[in-house]
Amino acid sequence: MKSIKELYKIGKGPSSSHTMGPERAAKIFKSRYPDYKVRVFLFGSLSLTGKGHLTDKIIEDIFEDVEVIFSSDFVDRHPNTLDFHAYDKEGEEVGYMRVYSVGGGTIHIEGETYEESIDVFPHQSFKEIMTYCKEERIRLPEYVARFEGADIRAFLLNIWQTMQDSIKEGLSKDGHLPGELQVVRKASQLHQKRIKKEPTEIKESRLVSAYAFAVNEMNASGGTIVTAPTCGASGTMPAVLRYMQERHRFDDEDVIDALATAGIIGNVIKHNASISGAEAGCQAEVGSACSMAAAAHAELFDLSLDQIEYAAEIALEHHLGLTCDPILGYVQIPCIERNAVAALRAIDACGLAYFLSDSRKISFDLVVDTMFETGKDMPANYRETACGGLAKKYQLK
Ligand code: SF4
Repeated sequence: MKSIKELYKIGKGPSSSHTMGPERAAKIFKSRYPDYKVRVFLFGSLSLTGKGHLTDKIIEDIFEDVEVIFSSDFVDRHPNTLDFHAYDKEGEEVGYMRVYSVGGGTIHIEGETYEESIDVFPHQSFKEIMTYCKEERIRLPEYVARFEGADIRAFLLNIWQTMQDSIKEGLSKDGHLPGELQVVRKASQLHQKRIKKEPTEIKESRLVSAYAFAVNEMNASGGTIVTAPTCGASGTMPAVLRYMQERHRFDDEDVIDALATAGIIGNVIKHNASISGAEAGCQAEVGSACSMAAAAHAELFDLSLDQIEYAAEIALEHHLGLTCDPILGYVQIPCIERNAVAALRAIDACGLAYFLSDSRKISFDLVVDTMFETGKDMPANYRETACGGLAKKYQLK
């Protein structure tokens, strides 16, 4: 399995697979063919939601002379495929590169072993990791440090600081998000609008939601966020961590442990299934984020390895079948609100796991496998193409 540095990436929204991945690919192609005319073909989901996700804009910003073509074709190997062609002054093709943007900003270049693909962890499944941890009598954060090296904690601290910066900036903004939907920013409203004699559970729901909205509104407006595990699902984890730190006074070292544990959960999903909405629907994005957040929450409270596994399992299981249908291709509706709901669900999943892990029947690995199979069975309309669901039904007034 890869480094968790591959999972948590700092970058600009709105989409890890539709902006961060193509941006990386474009920079690589430009370094190989710096002064040539370039033509880029977008296929599948990249083509169908590329406008709303700003894929063309991010590519145009990198090359001086480029034409971006939205193709109606799908490429069998992956729904997020893009082809780069370079031409000399006579119009002769001098270079070509096919890239798959596989989710969370990670890319695979066809026919090449890209440096991102080096394995750091020797284990492939959560069961293998758990067996190793139990034999070695270590918790997941120690497991992460053992294979990543000691500098992983400084990396995760920077990730946590960036998440907090996104929350802070998101809470400070009012007005509308960019795009035709004219969605009103709601994070600051949620943060400030107390009700008289507010019950604790309403306050918790309001604040957790405010933090999730803050990050996802930053993402939707092209602000800086951390993929956790993707841009579209970037608000769930920070919302849970920020609220829990505030309420229970956890220090940053505790939060780093929680990020390490959540990183393993996200990594297992990415390695054995998918975190790409185009490949497996929103269950792979927000479902994975909820699962990571549930595990992080469980780590904060020192739950056992079995309880952590069960919290992550419950959170993912109850997102099975969740489709991806962003209206007009913008990562706004249903995405922003969905992150808030997932953050609240992560807290509930952890509560259930605390009491019920002894009698559970479903392992985390089983639900990961199920999620991927469900995603593959999902019609393309529900996998980030904006052709089905809310994206099809909603009409602009
Ligand atoms: S619906 Fe989910 S998977 Fe689709 S763009 Fe929104 S957050 Fe990503």
